[in-house]
Amino acid sequence: MNRKTLIASIFFAGASLAPLGSHVVADEQPLAGYSAESSHAERQWEEKLRAIPSPEKLRAYMEHLSARPHHVGSPYDKENAEWIAARFKEFGLDTHIEQFDVLFPTPKERGVELVEGGPRFAAKLQEPALPLDPTSGQQSEQLPSYNAYSIDGDVTAPLVYVNYGIPEDYEQLERMGISVKDKIVIARYYHSWRGIKPKVAAEHGALGCLIYSDPHEDGFYQGDVFPKGPYRSSDGVQRGSVADMPVYPGDPLTPGVGATKDAKRLDLKDAATITKIPVLPISYGDAQPLLAALTGPVAPEGWRGGLGLTYHVGPGPAKVHLKVKSNWDIKPIYDVIGKITGAVYPDEWVIRGNHHDAWVNGAEDPTAGMVAVLEEARAFGELVKSGWKPKRTILYAAWDGEEPGLLGSTEWAETHYDELRAHAVAYINSDTNGRGYLGVEGSHTLEKFSNDVAREILDPETMLSTWKRNQLHGIANAKAPEQRQEIRQRSDLRIPALGSGSDYTAFLQHDGVASLNIGFDGEDGGGIYHSIYDDFYWFTHFSDTDFVYGRALAQTGSTAVMRLADADLLPFEFGNFADTIQTYLKELKDLSQKMQDDIRERNREIEEGVFKATNDPKRPLVPPAVEAVPPHLNFAPLENAADALARSAAEYHKALDHANADGGAALAAASVAEVNHLLIASERRLTTSEGLPNRPWFKHQLYAPGYYTGYAAKTVPAVREAIEQKQWKQADEGIVVVARVLQDEAALISTAAQKLSAAH
Ligand SMILES: [Zn+2]
Repeated sequence: MNRKTLIASIFFAGASLAPLGSHVVADEQPLAGYSAESSHAERQWEEKLRAIPSPEKLRAYMEHLSARPHHVGSPYDKENAEWIAARFKEFGLDTHIEQFDVLFPTPKERGVELVEGGPRFAAKLQEPALPLDPTSGQQSEQLPSYNAYSIDGDVTAPLVYVNYGIPEDYEQLERMGISVKDKIVIARYYHSWRGIKPKVAAEHGALGCLIYSDPHEDGFYQGDVFPKGPYRSSDGVQRGSVADMPVYPGDPLTPGVGATKDAKRLDLKDAATITKIPVLPISYGDAQPLLAALTGPVAPEGWRGGLGLTYHVGPGPAKVHLKVKSNWDIKPIYDVIGKITGAVYPDEWVIRGNHHDAWVNGAEDPTAGMVAVLEEARAFGELVKSGWKPKRTILYAAWDGEEPGLLGSTEWAETHYDELRAHAVAYINSDTNGRGYLGVEGSHTLEKFSNDVAREILDPETMLSTWKRNQLHGIANAKAPEQRQEIRQRSDLRIPALGSGSDYTAFLQHDGVASLNIGFDGEDGGGIYHSIYDDFYWFTHFSDTDFVYGRALAQTGSTAVMRLADADLLPFEFGNFADTIQTYLKELKDLSQKMQDDIRERNREIEEGVFKATNDPKRPLVPPAVEAVPPHLNFAPLENAADALARSAAEYHKALDHANADGGAALAAASVAEVNHLLIASERRLTTSEGLPNRPWFKHQLYAPGYYTGYAAKTVPAVREAIEQKQWKQADEGIVVVARVLQDEAALISTAAQKLSAAH
């Protein structure tokens, strides 16, 4: 497909299955936030921009950056930071490295033994080098497999299998009459951020926690294992942080402030995010003898993994000895920051970043994303040399210390909190990359904008726009006819909210900077995540082997940055935002209703004797207890706020239509700068200085990682989590707080609409 038909498919997205062809009109349609004239110029620069990223360069950067292990504190981590800084400088960016000093534990002693209940067995805790995978043998530089920020401990206790180790698994255990108190639990990876598993285990009184990679999730059950295929072999281990990041990310010793040289630091014993019990990750090779030694009830069907054994829950007779001890050192981290100063609005910053540190060689995570960021920086450097000047300042960042706990981005966003609150327009993040569909998550004030960008990017496999491919993929995967209808008819594809798990967290959820997270995936399976086999050999055999999706990511990221940096009027939009708030409101009301219905029904069944009648005395289950039916919550403040938002969004839309008339001359008026200030402040307005109940670091009132999910977002968390946790008073209080925030947002949008109407 050539570019003209591509744009046609973009423009007619509203009636998006309409035949392509009227591209003349499409070409004349100005970009959102641009006058006809500035749009024309912008399109030409964007064309040049997107032609620059080269797969060969992406491949060469990856080969260099992933050549040796480069975790926090390693020599190659520092070398990579310096190398990236040298490239940024060579491309023409005004570049510096910002150092922070953070708590980073590394393993000193690790041990897992089966001491009773089966043949004595000591876990290997070692991923072997493979002859055909050249970097897998760099053992002297590799960080052993471990979970960072596990507390030190030496415990021996009977073992209990807890499935994924999330709260609902413990509810099931309770029904089975099994307690994990004074036991060691073994949980499998997936279905939550890994740090949730030891947190919930400790809340239930466990003494220790093992986390293993079951082949059902990313091993032989999914496909051939490495090196024959991309999946996890029996010795592969997922490293990773287990800090309690839903409380606060970043350096555990400096919550809320930058970990600069002289920062005031907590004592290690007072750091709330270190786990309460020792944790160690193991391979399925090491987990198999432990699981095989469990007896007790057979695990419920949904708990059974892919190993060739009958999964029992225990407790025991398997008894395990677990030992974890770390060096609790302070290590330097190096954030690389490159700048192109804006020619018109130097105090308005568009920020783009990806992390550069890895657990080991990290070709996929993070290098596949990092190399796209490098190519974007090079592309912008080239355009500057050929006469382009961004209106706004552009910052390119390579963060350090993301893997242990979003350290580099969090410390930077905490250190520069006031400046970012004043100047940041948006933050665009990526982390990994692969083949498949363009994934976009983020702030809903940028939903329309991100759709517009997706319409510009060509999918390398189908030659459809990434937007079109996503739409058709959405239709293929829709669960219900209404969903399919919406995907066909709504002018924009919905984007999911951000939870956590990458460097956008501090920008969005602490500083209140509108954020997007982007990356391609969906066609590459794999099981090398956070292992020594996530390396150049694996990536160039099993992922985006010709780096065409790396190029597409660089095109996506750079287009988004350029369009934000050059716009006359920033392309924030509030119709989709207000629509999203309505969907959240409906979800919350449905949730509250469902909790009432479920509890009422269960109470009735208890009374009818359903549980007694269906209990098998040989496999007894504890009957649930009668529970008080939840009270009705007062959603009226939120309903009024959602309506106010919808009204102000419509006002803004009308003002925008007016400003776009006559070629959008009004958009060039000096007074548009004031509208932009309000638009920049619009995401800030969604935060409160008090933050969320029980976790004040998280200030955003719409988006947060779930306290018990970790990666997955909880939207309107103060209300949703209170309902889920049956804290009805807190839920009603949360409704009032969020409603006030949304009323303030509606007022800001109305003011912006009035100022925009007055611009000429
Ligand atoms: Zn990563």
